[in-house]
Amino acid sequence: MNSLAAWLETHAEALDSDPSRASEVLPQLVRAGAAAVGVPETLGGAGGTIADAIDIVAAVAQRSLTAAFVLWGHRTFIEYVQRSDNGVLRERTLAPLLKGEIAGATGLSNAMKYLSNIEALQMRATRRAEGFTLDGSLPWITNLRREGFIAAAAFEHEDGTPPSIFAIPHDAPGVQRSDDLDLIGLRASNTAALQVSEVSLDASYRLTADARNWLLHVRPAFLGLQCGMSIGLARRALQTTSEASAASRDSIRAEVAEAEAKLGEQSAHLRTGVLDGTFLERPAALFQLRIDLADTVTRAVSLEVQASGGRGYLRGQTGTARRVREASFIPIVTPSLVQLKAQLTQHRPVSVA
Ligand SMILES: Cc1cc2nc3c(=O)[nH]c(=O)nc-3n(C[C@H](O)[C@H](O)[C@H](O)COP(=O)(O)OP(=O)(O)OC[C@H]3O[C@@H](n4cnc5c(N)ncnc54)[C@H](O)[C@@H]3O)c2cc1C
Repeated sequence: MNSLAAWLETHAEALDSDPSRASEVLPQLVRAGAAAVGVPETLGGAGGTIADAIDIVAAVAQRSLTAAFVLWGHRTFIEYVQRSDNGVLRERTLAPLLKGEIAGATGLSNAMKYLSNIEALQMRATRRAEGFTLDGSLPWITNLRREGFIAAAAFEHEDGTPPSIFAIPHDAPGVQRSDDLDLIGLRASNTAALQVSEVSLDASYRLTADARNWLLHVRPAFLGLQCGMSIGLARRALQTTSEASAASRDSIRAEVAEAEAKLGEQSAHLRTGVLDGTFLERPAALFQLRIDLADTVTRAVSLEVQASGGRGYLRGQTGTARRVREASFIPIVTPSLVQLKAQLTQHRPVSVA
């Protein structure tokens, strides 16, 4: 992790503002062992739990949210493969994923919105004698490495059977990645649109034939790993605030202490909830925690801006301006804050499923 940390510290600004190092991010993460944390040793991983994987996402996010989001996509895809009952797919993809030979990408925003009855599925699967023909497009997917990727997406079946989730390999005929999207930040994240036109895949590429139930089970890991990004970003902003001169930090000392305490409680709550099954039984608790963590990020970054003064507004002097941009991503990544708040309002006081 030390050499990864140093690499991220050196290149964090460039990773945010320019796509030229996009191809280096995943190899750096994999070399440091970040993608293998929380994957059982019997499957070729480093052992540990999903909470340990969240800690690694947080440690990376302390240095670069771009790299943390790449890690989120890759590690979440690994979680999908682990939790799939498709042994052939696991056998085929897990080792190359752990070695970083292919990039895991999760195009499941549409599916998560579908799960919350916000959006219809945008991809269609037609059953054929030898497998399925897949069609559709997704406007946003991160970690679509030009060197090779495999992307998860949910598909409605033409014959009306329950939706499935497929893992789409980059080299299947009919799969097309767009150019990188012209983002305001996270520019080395290999974020692009994906077009799938008459792609033929057999059942060995199907992560699940029951998207709805499977998504409910992977959602705590999906969201928990995402919360790791908020934890790391907020932690770094608060650390930077504490390192400011005494004169600039004295009058906000109490606010910083309060934010630090809140972040500590939220991190502990996340860890407990992903490990003891609370978030599976009561997703509303995790939704609320994701909202609360986003608030902590906003507060932490605002305190950093206040403590940094004009220096934070100069290019290349501090990471403050970058963290402000990074923080603006936190509310919009699916499930977005608007979506979560709507769900909590609709379903209160009963638990949200
Ligand atoms: C840099 C970047 C990388 C991304 N990477 C990925 C990725 O790897 N995989 C992936 O799947 N997605 C990815 N996304 C997409 C992201 O997760 C969100 O889905 C997307 O930014 C929000 O969708 P939208 O803009 O289409 O929202 P819109 O549909 O335009 O909606 C606007 C807001 O309202 C909310 N909303 C809409 N309808 C409702 C409703 N009925 N009830 C409650 N709330 C509602 C939405 O959640 C959103 O917050 C990425 C986005 C960005 C910016």
